[in-house]
Amino acid sequence: MHYPSRRGFLCSLGGAALLPLARRERTAPEMILYNGNINTINDRQPRVQAVAIAGGRFLAVGTNDEVRPLADARTVRINLEGKTVVPGFIDAHTHPAVAGRLHLREVDCDLRSITEIQAAIRRRASETPTGTWVLGFKYDDTKTSEGRPLTRDDLDLAAPNHPVRVAHRGGHTAYVNSLALRLANVAENAPDPSGGRFDRDPATGRLTGRVSENATDVFDRIIPSTYTRDDYREGVKIISRMMTRAGITSVHDAYGSHDDLRAYQDARAAGELSFRVYCLIGYWNIDRMIAAGVRTGFGDEWVRVGAMKLTCDGSISERTARLSQPYVGRPDDYGILVMSEEELYVHARKAHEADWQIGMHANGDVAIDIVLRVYERLQRERPRRDPRFRIEHCTVVNDSLIGRMRALGVIPTPFSTYVYFHGEKMRHYGAERLNQMFAVRSFLDAGLRVTQNSDYPPGTFEPMMALQSSVTRTDMRGNVWGARQRVTVEEALRVGTINGAYASFEERIKGSIETNKLADLVVLGRDPLREDSSSLVNIPVERTMVGGRWVFES
Ligand SMILES: [Zn+2]
Repeated sequence: MHYPSRRGFLCSLGGAALLPLARRERTAPEMILYNGNINTINDRQPRVQAVAIAGGRFLAVGTNDEVRPLADARTVRINLEGKTVVPGFIDAHTHPAVAGRLHLREVDCDLRSITEIQAAIRRRASETPTGTWVLGFKYDDTKTSEGRPLTRDDLDLAAPNHPVRVAHRGGHTAYVNSLALRLANVAENAPDPSGGRFDRDPATGRLTGRVSENATDVFDRIIPSTYTRDDYREGVKIISRMMTRAGITSVHDAYGSHDDLRAYQDARAAGELSFRVYCLIGYWNIDRMIAAGVRTGFGDEWVRVGAMKLTCDGSISERTARLSQPYVGRPDDYGILVMSEEELYVHARKAHEADWQIGMHANGDVAIDIVLRVYERLQRERPRRDPRFRIEHCTVVNDSLIGRMRALGVIPTPFSTYVYFHGEKMRHYGAERLNQMFAVRSFLDAGLRVTQNSDYPPGTFEPMMALQSSVTRTDMRGNVWGARQRVTVEEALRVGTINGAYASFEERIKGSIETNKLADLVVLGRDPLREDSSSLVNIPVERTMVGGRWVFES
């Protein structure tokens, strides 16, 4: 989707690693969690029972006997009663700011029947002045029980006196009613715009209400944008609560703007930001940011400037990624490129020369090849020691592409929940190609630091679903897609935690439960390592902690 160390010297005391006493006064911990089954994702100390927390960081990590004596009278002691704890999850490609605004204003159409969608639209229309737009999002054409797409007639029945636009969760198509068509001056005989389509009933030629790609522009232009600065902040508050409930403690906003960056800061100042943000910046903003002397890493552990983001090709969920072999059943369709290699290079060079990290969206193998050529050229012309180039999505790969990624140390950010959640769309790619898609196994075997990524709203963001999807490669209906790319639960946990920290240059301060790292963790109802892989998705997230504070408690 394209919406837009402080590490001290460690010493050891009775086995429990502690902060150097000389650097920090000998303060007692504010909180101790003990009797836990704590999976630290730290190879040097993989399993512990207890952690002590002070100043938002882990003060000590070890056995009950090592950690409990550190408490004084004011220390809050929490008995985990054997519960499993893992580091907070890092969603390294998502669109939280824009998603939060959609949740604030629009009707969530992630519903399983057209009848339910109509009821939700009717309800919103009854609270909305006649003639004012009713907007919906997260509709998915392959997930309603009627087995047919939403039409203008469905929406007319729900809201005849309001213009209605319902966007697909993938973001490239929308469904409008008759009043919306009239207000946008789209007549029955209107020609399709270039790069877009007004769908028509093949029998009658009548507009169906489905509009795709550039044909959505005529509606976007007339729908008033009414988001205020407060709405931006409120959107961040809403989405950070939703995601921390699921166990996510850090996000990488994959296409942020300066307004989004301000919204995250406003939410933080208001005490409403419950996760940490690494905000990738859309390329159209880069000149201003370079001029201001800002680059990747600017900010702090709560709100930080991320990579510059560019987009090379289309989408997986809406079947427009640029592939070397055509889509199944559509022999002439190889998908689309949205930016040429030369254009990508010109933008990327500016960022590279200003020491920005770069993230380029490339789904299909053709697009990934182009992006790698740009990265290879940049390193040839101006080598940087640790650029941590990212390929956003990096969906369809092969051995040769992976070899080149390895040579550059590229970070891939594949969709983590798609096999499970979007399984019904996988047939467009075919079973064989699925063995080379969302290729977490191949990336890990090549030593690449692949991350966990939702792309929410197009994908779902629950880390437990990401675990099940990556471990089983099985969709909701039990179909297996690309079994060769299966990983173990332990590997999937690393992908979802420490690898995400590496992708934002923050592996020294988060991503594992280690002394002096940020106290970001999740308490789970059951241990993923002991769970049947077909029910990982059902493991309850009971509590989420960010910076030593509970941001969610069930
Ligand atoms: Zn995206």
